[in-house]
Amino acid sequence: MYCSNCGKELLEGAKFCPYCSSIQENNQNQVFIPQSEINDKQEVITEPPVDNHSANLLCTISLILYFGGPITTFMLYLVMAVGYSTTESLGIFGNVLSLMTLLSSMSGLAAYVLMIIARVKYPKSKYAKVVMWIYIVLFILGIIAFAALAIYCGWYIGNCLDKLGQMG
Ligand SMILES: [Zn+2]
Repeated sequence: MYCSNCGKELLEGAKFCPYCSSIQENNQNQVFIPQSEINDKQEVITEPPVDNHSANLLCTISLILYFGGPITTFMLYLVMAVGYSTTESLGIFGNVLSLMTLLSSMSGLAAYVLMIIARVKYPKSKYAKVVMWIYIVLFILGIIAFAALAIYCGWYIGNCLDKLGQMG
């Protein structure tokens, strides 16, 4: 048997606890469970440990794909702008730029797919929600920018070039 007050093991039929001096009444067959242990068990039941590791990994790879391609391409364009005066002098560097532009648009698509997978598989992941909203906002901004450019240019590339020519 165990003490009904402090939980220490007592001799069978003990009338009082030698550790805390509390009187023992009819607890011969009871097993003492300290209150702290009960609380621990309840916490485990109400809040199961959520493993967000996979969701976080998916979101991080998605962000790297989304921003990595365009940033790398943009850096290459900067290097080109500084190092080369004309497109004719680009040579193989021009091919690398074209390839990077293609790759960054493909990695952008892959980033969307990974984000959707993360949202579907881990609907409670806050990271995935944040990433989704970043993409939605950037997508809307992109459409607005494209629409503004298209309206400004009167939808015609020739017209656009004329206007840019007049400006510059
Ligand atoms: Zn006791």
